[in-house]
Amino acid sequence: PCFDHFGLHADILKALAGQGYTTPTPIQAQAIPVILAGHDVMGVAQTGTGKTAGFSLPLIQQLVPFANTSASPARHPVRALVLTPTRELADQVAKNVWTYAEHTALRSTVVFGGMDMQPQVAELRRGVEILIATPGRLLDHIQQKNVQLDQVQILVLDEADRMLDMGFLPDLQRISNLLPRERQTLLFSATFSNEIKKLAASYLQNPITIEV
Ligand code: AMP
Repeated sequence: PCFDHFGLHADILKALAGQGYTTPTPIQAQAIPVILAGHDVMGVAQTGTGKTAGFSLPLIQQLVPFANTSASPARHPVRALVLTPTRELADQVAKNVWTYAEHTALRSTVVFGGMDMQPQVAELRRGVEILIATPGRLLDHIQQKNVQLDQVQILVLDEADRMLDMGFLPDLQRISNLLPRERQTLLFSATFSNEIKKLAASYLQNPITIEV
């Protein structure tokens, strides 16, 4: 298998070539077509399996039609939200997304705690299609009206099991209440515990489960 078969945009393929990726990993081979088809996904995969590209590439592909070079923030609403349990993971996912979307006009940024609000506010006000965030800091920005989430088409919950372990469930509920009901949701977890199954049952619609 190779990346050409997914129908990914040339700008994305160029980024993959730049990274030296030639062959999709098993989670990528399974997840990319399913996500591109618009399904909700329950992905059971550890870090190191290539799960980040597994959700980022089809996410970017679906947003490419909305990419534009307008200077107006109104033309760059948040269309994809990726939530992660930790700053480190948020930062890592953001770097991946930035790399894969580098040759598109899509904008992305990351917000997490322990950093000044102000530079994050400036980025958010400029407008980004893809926002990577930890739940607590995102709620701070929401309360300060620095960001609107009513145009979100895709929600990713990355390392959802760790988010539950860290007590983020109430934060996730508060955030998801602000999102359109009609959206695509992708939930990734290293484990498939009863808690994760419950979370999946409340957040996903007719999900396809992918385990690697
Ligand atoms: P992840 O599991 O998403 O943290 O990815 C683990 C590592 O594999 C990261 O350093 C990625 O850059 C790398 N990677 C992801 N997909 C591929 C691929 N198809 N070919 C080569 N390396 C990859």
